[in-house]
Amino acid sequence: MKNKLGINTRCAHAGELKDTQFKGAISPLYMSTSYAFEDVEVKRYPRYFNTPNQVALAKKMAALENGEAALIFGSGMAAVSTAMLAFLHSGDHVVLQNTLYGGTRNLIVEEFKKYGISYSFTKDLKPESFEAEIKENTKVIYIETPSNPLLTITDLNAVSKIAKKHGLVSMIDNTFASPVNQNPIDFGIDVVIHSATKYMGGHSDILAGTVISSEEHIDTIFQLAKNFGGSLSDYTVWLLERSIKTMGIRVKAQNKNAKKLAKYLEKHEDVERVYYPGLKSHPDHELAKSQMRGFGGMLSFELKEGINASLFQKKLKLIKPSMSLAGVESTILSPTLTSHALLSDEERASQGIKDGLMRFSVGIEEKEDLIADLEQALEAVKELKV
Ligand SMILES: *Cc1c(COP(=O)(O)O)cnc(C)c1O
Repeated sequence: MKNKLGINTRCAHAGELKDTQFKGAISPLYMSTSYAFEDVEVKRYPRYFNTPNQVALAKKMAALENGEAALIFGSGMAAVSTAMLAFLHSGDHVVLQNTLYGGTRNLIVEEFKKYGISYSFTKDLKPESFEAEIKENTKVIYIETPSNPLLTITDLNAVSKIAKKHGLVSMIDNTFASPVNQNPIDFGIDVVIHSATKYMGGHSDILAGTVISSEEHIDTIFQLAKNFGGSLSDYTVWLLERSIKTMGIRVKAQNKNAKKLAKYLEKHEDVERVYYPGLKSHPDHELAKSQMRGFGGMLSFELKEGINASLFQKKLKLIKPSMSLAGVESTILSPTLTSHALLSDEERASQGIKDGLMRFSVGIEEKEDLIADLEQALEAVKELKV
C-alpha cells in the first residue's frame, strides 16, 4: 500500500481521532480500561491492543511505514520479543545479523534456548553470508540497518529476496533510520520493528515500541501479544501520537546536522575515523543511497590514539554523555565504557569497536554550537595530555 500524502502530513494527521463531541483540534484521549461488551462490534480492552487511541496510533504507524497494520507495545524490546516469538516455535531456527542492538542479542542468547529455538549469527553483512546460515528448519531472517554503533548497512532488497526464495519471514529493526529515512516494506521486508523510545518519541521521555506489517502477519503477532500482555498505556499512546507529529521535521533537521558534523569530524586532526552512511568514505555509501532518503542522526567516530575518551566526554558542555539516543538534544557515549562494556576485549575488537570510539546521537541544536562544543572539548583533552 503506497501512501500519497507526504511524510510530514502523515506524521501530523495519519490515524488521528475526530473529536465529534467538542470539535477539538487533536485526538481525544480515552483512558478507559473497561468497555461495554453487549451490542458492540469490538470487545475493547487495553491488553487486546484495541482501545480507540491504540487503534488510532497503530493506523499512523502503518501509514508511516507503508504497511497494512501495526501494534503498539510498552517498549522496543516488547515489540522485538513478541514479533520474533510469534514466528519462532520450538524446533525452529533463526538467522540473525551479527551486529545487533545489545538488548536484542541478550534476548536471543539468554532466552531462546529455553524455548527450543536455535540461531546463527552471520559472519558479516554480505547477502551470501545470510543465505549460508539458512537451514532446513529456519523460519526467520532478522536484520538491523543502519546498525549500532558502527552504522553498517545491510542490503534490504537482497535480504528480502533470499527470505522469499526460502519461504522465510524477514524482519528488520528500523529504529536507527526511522520511517522518515527508510521504509523497508517498500523493499519487500515483511515485518518492521521500532523502538519508539528513540526517534518516534524523540524527547527522551517515552518508552514504547511498534511492529508494522501485513494484516495477516500482524494478526499472528497479536495472537501472542494479547497473551504476553506487553501493550502500552493509553496515556503514553496519546503522548507518542503527539511526539510523532513533529518526527518528520525533527529527523530531517537531525539528518542535516549529522551530515555537517560528520564532515567536520572527518577533517579533524584528532579524529582517526568517522562512521556515517552519508559520507562518501563510508564503504556502503552507495547502498545506503539506494535504500535511504536521509542518512539519519546517528554517527560514530574514533578519537586518535592517546586521546582519553572518558575525559573527552567530561569536557563537553552542551553534548550530554547519555545512554540512550535520538532525542532532540545531542548525546554521546563510549561503547567500550557503556553499551558494549560486558563484551571481552577480543569480542569488541572482532566487532571493530575500539576504545576511542564515540557514538554520537546528533540533536536539533544549531550546528555551529555543536561544532564549538566538540572543538573546545578536543582542545581541552589535548592540553591535559601535554
Ligand atoms: C533502544 C533500542 C531497542 C530497544 O528498545 P527499548 O524501547 O529500550 O525497549 C531496540 N533496537 C534498537 C536499535 C534500539 O536502539
